[in-house]
Amino acid sequence: MKFETANPLSMATPIEAITYCIPTFHATPWMGRGISHLAQVFESGDLMSFERLTTIYNLPHTSRYSYIQLKSFLHTSNKDSRRETKDTRELSIWEQTGITAKLPQTFKPLSGCYRLILPYQPLSDSTPAHQWEMDLQTPITERQWSNITSSTRKLIKSAPLIEQHQKTIYRWYMVPLRIHKLYPNASPTCWRCKQEKGSVLHIWWKCPRLIRYWEDTQKIIADTTTIQLPLDPKAFLLLDIPRETPTQARKLMYHILLTAQKLIARLWKTTEAPSIPTLIQDIDNQAIYETSFSKARNRTSCSSSMWEQWRVWKTANKQHVSRQQPNQTQRLDAERGWVASTSR
Ligand SMILES: [Zn+2]
Repeated sequence: MKFETANPLSMATPIEAITYCIPTFHATPWMGRGISHLAQVFESGDLMSFERLTTIYNLPHTSRYSYIQLKSFLHTSNKDSRRETKDTRELSIWEQTGITAKLPQTFKPLSGCYRLILPYQPLSDSTPAHQWEMDLQTPITERQWSNITSSTRKLIKSAPLIEQHQKTIYRWYMVPLRIHKLYPNASPTCWRCKQEKGSVLHIWWKCPRLIRYWEDTQKIIADTTTIQLPLDPKAFLLLDIPRETPTQARKLMYHILLTAQKLIARLWKTTEAPSIPTLIQDIDNQAIYETSFSKARNRTSCSSSMWEQWRVWKTANKQHVSRQQPNQTQRLDAERGWVASTSR
């Protein structure tokens, strides 16, 4: 296999790697004397003499041949100056670490990478948490964030719903405003209402075409849990729901809210707003999944009363769920008016 090197070689090049350039290079004596990287054999920009290396590193005389090999290689590979001069490029943080770190025999590369990355925290104003706080214009404490990020995993078994929650928290979705920043030719306007800038908060919450959808979702939560959740994106998008809320009610809220979010994502880049009947159908699927999950493990689901409550409510409103509409516009209008006409 032909092996091509950088020209000139990085000073962070391990001495052991010279064998890829010079197959007969005997690196072991060099490494045994503590010479691990190319930078160590340079002084004032030039390759040290063999005598100097012997003095500093106690390099054995038997390594003179490998020294000549290295010198010749550096001389011929440095096409610009034809000298074995030092590469003066600024070293990356990885290269600097490679040169300066005294790595123990038990060094684990992946752990080492994490140790390097962790001190370099992203700027606080670029974190999703900070951006949500700016959008919602309210501080969110670390404890609240801890509850938000761990809440769904404790109460929900559906991986797609947990994934949905994580994607929302971490602002994973590419909204028009963000796409516009990357590609200036792309429109920054909301693709749904075509009126306002498509920010994260607009696309998920503020868009006029979603207002009724979220109001109806709030009504479903109130009907099925008897809890009036405030119409607040912190609760509806991040799932910041008071801890004192009974567990089963909180769990049903998570199912309803995350499914509602999923439907918005499902209609991404379309002008359509999600429909309440589709939301109900999807939550039904969650009920079937959770019930089957419990049965498969011969467990009496502690959620069975919760889903029973859901089914009772759904049956009571069945005729409205299956209402047929002649065309899409009328269907969407009717769906938006559905909860209002049946439950208010
Ligand atoms: Zn909009």
